[in-house]
Amino acid sequence: MNNTDDVASIQATLKNAGAEVTPEQIENKLKSLAQFKVTGAEAKRNATRSLAKAAGLDVKTLFAGGETVPVTVGEIQPGMRVELRAKVVQLWDSTSDKIAQTGLVGDSTGVIKFTIWENAEKEVLEEGASYRITGASISSYNDRCQLNINKNTTITQLEEDIEVKAQEEEFTGAIVSIQNGSGLIKRCPECNRQVKKGICSEHGKVEGIYDLRIKAVIDNGIEVRELILDAEQTCALTGISLDKAKEMATEAMDASVVEAEITDKIIGRFYTATGSLMSRYMLVKAMDPAGPAAAIDKAAIAAELEAI
Ligand SMILES: [Zn+2]
Repeated sequence: MNNTDDVASIQATLKNAGAEVTPEQIENKLKSLAQFKVTGAEAKRNATRSLAKAAGLDVKTLFAGGETVPVTVGEIQPGMRVELRAKVVQLWDSTSDKIAQTGLVGDSTGVIKFTIWENAEKEVLEEGASYRITGASISSYNDRCQLNINKNTTITQLEEDIEVKAQEEEFTGAIVSIQNGSGLIKRCPECNRQVKKGICSEHGKVEGIYDLRIKAVIDNGIEVRELILDAEQTCALTGISLDKAKEMATEAMDASVVEAEITDKIIGRFYTATGSLMSRYMLVKAMDPAGPAAAIDKAAIAAELEAI
C-alpha cells in the first residue's frame, strides 16, 4: 500500500470516528514516525492511534462504523473489526468440522483465543509464527473475547517475532466463592460450551459430554482472581475424579452434590494458584495449599498501601 492510500485510509477511519484530520497532519505524523524507522502497517496503526488520542477520541470509538482499525490485544472489545499483529502461542484440537483451527494468539499486551472458520478457506497458522491479521471480527462469549477469522480476513506472515506478554501468574489467597457451573457439568460435543438442561445455546438440543471443573474466586485481601480448574486439576485438589463425580451424582440422583462437596472441601482455605491468564480468568496449572501467613502478609501490605 502506498503512502497516499495510507493517508486516505487513516483519514477515513478518523472521520468515521468523528475526528476531522487533514492529509497534511497525517503526512507529518507518518514522516516523523519514519524518522524513527517506523514504517508500513506499524506506522499506519501508530499514526491512527496517536491522531485519535490527540483529537480526544477513545480508541474504542474508532470501531463504531465497522472500519478495520489496528489494535493491540489489550484494546480489543466485542464488536470490533480489527487489524492485529500477533504471534501464535498455542494451537488446540477442535472437534467441530466448522472450525479449521483454534488456539491462542498474543502480543505484548495479552493473549486472545482465535478461531479460523472452515468456510473462511484460509491456510492454518503455524505455532510460534507471527502474523498480521486484518479484518477479523471480535465476538464475546462468557465475557471472553474471541478473534474470528472469516472469508474477509487477510493473514500475512511476518518476518519479525512478536513479543508476547508473560501469561503465567502465581497468586496466593483464600477461596471465597465457588461459582455456578462448578462440579459435574455437561458440554456440547460441537462447541464445548456448557449444556444447560440438555440445550447448547448455539446448537440446541445435544447429547452432552460429562466434564468436571471448578470455577472459583480466590482473594488475597487486595485483589481477586477468577480461577478455572479442569477435571485433572479438580481431582488433584479435591480427590474427586470425573468417574467419582458421576457415581456421586447417580447415587444422589442429583448432580449438585458434586458442587456441594467441592465447596465443602475448599471454601475458606488458602492456596497458591499458578496458571495462565486468559482474559479475566486464570486457567490453573497447579494449586498448592498455603498457610494463611502468605495472605496475612498481603493484608498487611494492603493496610500499608492504604496508609500512604
Ligand atoms: Zn454447542
